[in-house]
Amino acid sequence: MASKLKDLKIDILKCARCGTCRSICPTLNDAWGEDGPTWETTGPRGRILMSYGLQQNKLKPSKKMVQDIFNCLICNRCVEICPSGVDTTKIIQASRKDLLDQNAVPIELSKLHEILEKNKNIYGLDQEDRLLWTEMNVEDIIEDRILKKAEVAFFVGCQGSFRGSLFGIPEAVVLLLENLKIDYTILGEEEWCCGSPFYLVGDDSETAREFAIHNIEKMLEFGVKKIIFTCPGCYRVWKHVYPDLYGKELPFELYHSTEFIKKLIKEGKIKFNKEIKKKVGYQDPCELGRHCKIYEEPRTIIKKIPGIIFKELKENRKDSLCCGGGGLAKVTDNQISLGVGSKKLKDFLENDIDMILTCCPACYQNLIDALEISGEDIEILDLHELLIKALDLE
Ligand code: SF4
Ligand code: SF4
Repeated sequence: MASKLKDLKIDILKCARCGTCRSICPTLNDAWGEDGPTWETTGPRGRILMSYGLQQNKLKPSKKMVQDIFNCLICNRCVEICPSGVDTTKIIQASRKDLLDQNAVPIELSKLHEILEKNKNIYGLDQEDRLLWTEMNVEDIIEDRILKKAEVAFFVGCQGSFRGSLFGIPEAVVLLLENLKIDYTILGEEEWCCGSPFYLVGDDSETAREFAIHNIEKMLEFGVKKIIFTCPGCYRVWKHVYPDLYGKELPFELYHSTEFIKKLIKEGKIKFNKEIKKKVGYQDPCELGRHCKIYEEPRTIIKKIPGIIFKELKENRKDSLCCGGGGLAKVTDNQISLGVGSKKLKDFLENDIDMILTCCPACYQNLIDALEISGEDIEILDLHELLIKALDLE
């Protein structure tokens, strides 16, 4: 959960204002194009200074301040590079909470709490529609999986459940699990948003806690011991936020799908039978990489697929540039998200890559959106969808 800004004075004062983080912050450098503005407040050092002003009660929230605090992508790149060990994202999230308490949030987020509380998902849609993603190809399979007792659960997440362009991701996971004859369950309408948007906005209300407890209790009710996530945001929240909210360690093994799949490959349970002749690049999702330290699992899987030539970008793993789609900026300022996404696309194109792979619905969506406005031609796929192709399960 977000720390309170009033408790972070020492954390804030650790910043020596050296400016090292300015060189790598995507919202300072990459969002606006080469001739764009470089307002100090759109980067980490400026955000820390604004946080100090708020912490000291010397700054009152202004429209620009709110915008710049909420436009941070929470990508954690500044944290990785800071020589003084400043946890910038912790400070920024505490500032968001402080602003939320002063009722100073971007208009786009003002109804977030209400929507989540009422609908249990980020899109404000009916929970009945949580299984829309199954209707194209896997409806018959899923019928027997919903709310059944099983050791393994697949937590689908709001994005894969409701957003048509992302339906292929959960569908691919289901086809994979069926092919491997793994007994699993899906919560369907009983799955609530993981709560990540609450935490990104700094909302630590009792409602935010209820979401965690509901999801945990439902998993317990159906005898679940292992949970698989494709969305790094859901995975991160379950792994790093839920234990605090639950008050003890969770009684589950949590796997990002790439960890689960890598394990199956190692055990010899996955054999690829189709060549994919592509020059492939990988988009490290910030929430999976820098936040959860999962860098190698997706790479190991990609390199096992026959025919693939894997091309590593110069900036990779902890140095990777964000896709632009994180931290709620896609909701508050899509221009920033698309600007960063376009820069990332350029990196792939300049490396003679013809297929971008990622394993995060937010990365996939933002890169697709950036591609649409770029006029460029490059294939973007979620890793699970590629696996299904390589296993000939389409
Ligand atoms: S956050 Fe770290 S890298 Fe950035 S200005 Fe402060 S001390 Fe330097
Ligand atoms: S988390 Fe990312 S976007 Fe936010 S200040 Fe740090 S480098 Fe910039």
